[in-house]
Amino acid sequence: MKRADLVTKEDLKELIVALTEASRKPPEPTEDEAAQIAQRKAQIQAAQEERKANGEAHLEGLRNKQYYQQQCSHMHSQLPGGLGGGTRMVHIHDNGVGDGRPGYLYCQKCELRIRPESGPLWHKLDPTAVFDTEKFNWYYQSTTGGRGGVID
Ligand SMILES: [Zn+2]
Repeated sequence: MKRADLVTKEDLKELIVALTEASRKPPEPTEDEAAQIAQRKAQIQAAQEERKANGEAHLEGLRNKQYYQQQCSHMHSQLPGGLGGGTRMVHIHDNGVGDGRPGYLYCQKCELRIRPESGPLWHKLDPTAVFDTEKFNWYYQSTTGGRGGVID
């Protein structure tokens, strides 16, 4: 055997590198696979568009609800002769427990929650509530539980 026919260390290195690269390269997709990939991409795109539309519809619903809550008087309509009327607000204790915390008022018509201003924790726990101590006190006095006083 001639010296030139021997495989050198460098030849082996080149061969290993070439084989490694060849094995890493994914095979070209067949026509069927390419069609499946295209179909999958279209499905993903359609799902993303659907999620976007759902998100926009949800936001629109929230905006409509907020508008409705701003328009709501939170009171029953008054009949002639002073009949009827009164609040639609009910006083709710957080977690159903009257533990000294003020809880909130809930409008049974528009689902608005009014809480007295009581620190950043409740803003975090109930971000869509209205925080207004004056409003809370005003409506609280109109509820059946409101005969006991107001929150300072
Ligand atoms: Zn209301």
